[in-house]
Amino acid sequence: LGGSISRALQQMRNATVVDEKVLNDCLNEINRALLQADVQFQLVRDMTRNNKNIVNFGDLPAGHNKRKIIQQAVFSELCKILDPGRPSFTPKRRETSVVMFVGLQGSGKTTTCTKYAYCHKQKGWNPALVCADTSRAGAFDQLKQNATKAKIPFFGSINYAESDPVKVAVDGVETFKKEKCDLIIVDTSGRHRQEAALFEEMRQVSEAIKPDLVIFVMDSSIGQAAFDQALAFTQSVAVGAVIVTKMDGHAKGGVQSSFTVMWEYTEVAATKSPVTFIGTGEHIDEFEVFDVKPFVSRLLGMGDWSGFMDKLNEVVLTDQQPELLQKLSQGKPTLRIMYELFQCILKMGPIGQGLSMLFGADFLPKGNEKEIRAKFNGYLTLMDSMTNEGNSNPKLMNQSRIMRIARGAGRRVHEVIELLEGYKRLANTSKNKSLMKGLNQMGGAGGLQNIIK
Ligand code: GDP
Ligand code: MG
Repeated sequence: LGGSISRALQQMRNATVVDEKVLNDCLNEINRALLQADVQFQLVRDMTRNNKNIVNFGDLPAGHNKRKIIQQAVFSELCKILDPGRPSFTPKRRETSVVMFVGLQGSGKTTTCTKYAYCHKQKGWNPALVCADTSRAGAFDQLKQNATKAKIPFFGSINYAESDPVKVAVDGVETFKKEKCDLIIVDTSGRHRQEAALFEEMRQVSEAIKPDLVIFVMDSSIGQAAFDQALAFTQSVAVGAVIVTKMDGHAKGGVQSSFTVMWEYTEVAATKSPVTFIGTGEHIDEFEVFDVKPFVSRLLGMGDWSGFMDKLNEVVLTDQQPELLQKLSQGKPTLRIMYELFQCILKMGPIGQGLSMLFGADFLPKGNEKEIRAKFNGYLTLMDSMTNEGNSNPKLMNQSRIMRIARGAGRRVHEVIELLEGYKRLANTSKNKSLMKGLNQMGGAGGLQNIIK
């Protein structure tokens, strides 16, 4: 799906003149791709209509960059379909939140419960797990094993066959409320002798524990079945968020089909709940916050960096782009590359955004725009000094060299250290695989201007 859409956009970008016909061809191509991916007809129709309204050729002043407008319209329409526009409940600090997980057997509920607990624990929460799955032997053992590994307190019944799921859920929640846990996570069953009984059980558990949030867990490889599943669960409990599991390469389908599943899911108008996390593997830390925009960028092969690249495109001379990008994308930036980047960043206007993407937000020097610029000009001077020193490999710095460089440039030692830290981070970001892939595609296709224009 992503491939066909980005091919359609590419054709549009390659056209010498962008007129109404080119736009229509492009939109038709996208429609076909979406319909092939089983996206609901009405969504596709609305999207086309909106795109045509946004890209109203009659209203555009001459010389306006139509390619860019079309690309951005398509991008934001795709985002709109995936984003219900209603944020999910997020647990609050210093309050106790109860989160109930629902989903069919095998969708990854138990695994995801632990991941969810663990990622909150890492941030200083005090989570606990309750196993209200009494439908099968081993359910409690599995949760217990996961929880023990993650050092998270758990509650459940060993004697599953005799246990009432509602009672176990209530007892578990009560226990952890007394223990002042701030995030109580309730895992539930996903199978029953009869489906209706499962949904009735979910309703009863939910009524008894009154969760602040119900999360529907969905396996990304189920395809069309997603629709019925989501609908069935939302009709019994108040689903507030969705987590899509098995988004990793090993799982069948991978990202492409996950996208289809999400389209399916968006058909469930009753829920209108956002996807908040995705599972990307069996391991406890293979769990990511889900954001619509980077997801759509990645899907369209624009890379998560489209915003930054947009800006870069405006300041780097076209014929220099492929080279700089290619060098960066090799994952081993040199001092020279960092130097060129800093020069670009200085030309970019408000410095914050580009910088935090490359070096992390906390690398951004404090102060106003002018002070930040002064700082970066200082870095450039330092790098000049390093080159003069005859050694421009930041990895080979030692104390005496650092001091010589600072002296030579008339700057302070701590600035050299900051600069080296910056280099280390740049080296790390440039190892980012999706970035590298994006950069290579861009450089390889004859420069950035093809992608972004
Ligand atoms: P439940 O029946 O809904 O509780 O599902 P489980 O948590 O027991 O998971 C079912 C299977 O899916 C297990 O083998 C998990 O290891 C696996 N699984 C869960 N989430 C993921 C994921 O994000 N990626 C992959 N590759 N496997 C997953
Ligand atoms: Mg389970």
